[in-house]
Amino acid sequence: MVTVADGVHAYVQEPGGWCVNNAGIVVGEDTVLVVDTAATEKRALALRDTVDALAPGPRRIVVSTHHHGDHTFGNHVFSGPHTLLVSHDAGPAELVRKGTALQSMWPHVEWGHTPTVLPTLTVRAGATLHLGDITAELIHPGVAHTSDDLVVWLPEQRVLFAGDLVFSGAAPFVLMGSLAGSLAALARLRELDPLVVVVGHGRVGGPELLAFTEEYLRWVAALAEQGLADGLSPLETAQGADEGAFAALLDRERLVGNLHRAFHEAAGGAPGARIESAPAMREMVAFNGGRPLRCLA
Ligand SMILES: [Zn+2]
Repeated sequence: MVTVADGVHAYVQEPGGWCVNNAGIVVGEDTVLVVDTAATEKRALALRDTVDALAPGPRRIVVSTHHHGDHTFGNHVFSGPHTLLVSHDAGPAELVRKGTALQSMWPHVEWGHTPTVLPTLTVRAGATLHLGDITAELIHPGVAHTSDDLVVWLPEQRVLFAGDLVFSGAAPFVLMGSLAGSLAALARLRELDPLVVVVGHGRVGGPELLAFTEEYLRWVAALAEQGLADGLSPLETAQGADEGAFAALLDRERLVGNLHRAFHEAAGGAPGARIESAPAMREMVAFNGGRPLRCLA
């Protein structure tokens, strides 16, 4: 756990990567805000123990930054009469549609009991939580990582819980959202002028993480433009790409998925419009030389 401001903590699960995500804990006067849970029941219980130790009081608000299972499978561990589950308006339908499908990608992981729990409150553009002396703004930055993204912004502490809009040391992933939308969202997040950025996966940092993600996404957009001009597929474009410093990123195979989204948008596809993820995931394995995607959950 990394304390980033008075009463504000990042729950960081190293080293990040597929399904090993971060959470946030904001301890208000009589309510604690938890930003995301975890992928497995065991990890979610460990997070709950940490929350219990910090704030034994019963009132809790759990905000999901998006529906992806690594951030939500553990929600049921927190659900109960004193907990308000919150997501974006588009979250519940995605939770129902996807269920636990993600788990079949990594059958070796001990997922535990992870029933889908739907939020009680959904927000469209944004909302403000008043937690005594701490104010937390929930902001929907548009379709970016997914169509139901929410970031949590603490304006006084200048702490941003960015969810999967921003990664640290790992490749960003926009297959299920939008590349153009992500760039627009990042510009908006930069305007907030955060001091601390808690990312969805990887180490806590500052605004340089926003800049890094933008740089990566612009590189993907340029690659897509070239790949399309050369008549290549997303996989072929990725295989021929000079990855430079991006080659060292964790889960670098996401480049293939990101190119699928970039190609789709270059052809006029709407942000967040569904692209079948299973074939793109199989191509990521191919890009990885046939090795399965590494999940340490
Ligand atoms: Zn995600």
